Amino acid sequence: MPLPQVRFPNARNIPAIGQGTWRMGERSSRRNDEVRALRMGLDLGLRLIDTAEMYGDGRSEEVVGEAIRGRRDEVFLVSKVLPSHARHDALIKACENSLRRLGTEHLDLYLLHWRSSTPLEETLGAFETLIAQGKIGSYGVSNFDVDDLRELAGTPFGAHCQTNQVLYNLGSRGIDFDLLPYQAERRMPVMAYCPLAQAGGLDDAVWTHPQVQAVADKHRAGVGQILLAWAIRPQWDERPVLAIPKAVQTEHVQANAAALEIQLDAEDLRALDAAFPPPQHKRSLDIV
Ligand code: NDP
Repeated sequence: MPLPQVRFPNARNIPAIGQGTWRMGERSSRRNDEVRALRMGLDLGLRLIDTAEMYGDGRSEEVVGEAIRGRRDEVFLVSKVLPSHARHDALIKACENSLRRLGTEHLDLYLLHWRSSTPLEETLGAFETLIAQGKIGSYGVSNFDVDDLRELAGTPFGAHCQTNQVLYNLGSRGIDFDLLPYQAERRMPVMAYCPLAQAGGLDDAVWTHPQVQAVADKHRAGVGQILLAWAIRPQWDERPVLAIPKAVQTEHVQANAAALEIQLDAEDLRALDAAFPPPQHKRSLDIV
């Protein structure tokens, strides 16, 4: 059985679980562990690494740069530009700074971290300039709700948007109502951030619910693995979701990679729906 992959509109295929890096680079004492974790993730097939100029004021990108040194070709590298850099010239400069910190000549995917007051046309125009210069392979957005995506689709380069990175996990599944179907219809994968609800820091309920634990026991898996398998669950083909858990501890990296092989069946999904029901009406986008 092939492992689940997500296909971007530009036909790049990537394993449906990648690696997040928020909070990496914040403490020098942890740097070696963080580099080791990211390299192990790559060894285990977690090819997408997500970072941002915001994380640790650029130090997360430096950690990633160290981790991918000598193995750039294995990585699908994603970074994000701050909304305060969304104007054309500032965005070009921000990208160049990210590339320098990452020690690479190009990003595979560059995202607008969240919406700014800069007109979308200008930001997308800057992304197009970066593509023409060979500095990025593609671009997308983050923290956009359906109305934002509709507006984006109406701009000249709107159809070039590859993804929308948003908060999504079993306990925070408002996008199941409208955003996920909207993107699925357009074959634009959702990139799920906080797929583990920050190990309970964000939402303890998913980690302590007996029904989630029961599904985990059935699969001889950890709750974290079930949360990841749920995020990329069987509908992944039609409703593509790519999850980007952040993990520094070795056993977490291993567990997250192994979650690619867990297939939840209809009974599991019913049990999880009963514990955390799908939304019946529009909910505003969750953010952190
Ligand atoms: P996550 O939901 O990924 O949770 C991370 C926490 O889970 C860490 O404490 C980690 O511990 C722990 N963990 C990892 N794997 C396991 C496991 N198998 N079992 C138990 N615990 C585990 O939270 P994040 O906020 O980090 O979100 C993921 C990524 O999404 C970010 O790192 C970032 O790249 C991106 N993001 C994007 C945002 C945006 O606005 N676009 C906003 C927030 C995040 P440890 O590290 O000790 O191993």
